[in-house]
Amino acid sequence: MAVPKRRTSKRKKRARRTHYKAERPTLQPCPRCGDQKQPHRVCPTCGYYKDQQRVTVED
Ligand SMILES: [Zn+2]
Repeated sequence: MAVPKRRTSKRKKRARRTHYKAERPTLQPCPRCGDQKQPHRVCPTCGYYKDQQRVTVED
């Protein structure tokens, strides 16, 4: 098995990790209530998906 000859420097390691970023979730307006929601997910505001109530939203 190949083994690294040199330990990765702090600079190299940190420079590589500058590309590890949290992705901003895609949001689209809910067709029922208009609030922003993620596509292909039950709406967290009204609990609807595909014109049916799927979950009960308590508040
Ligand atoms: Zn909704």
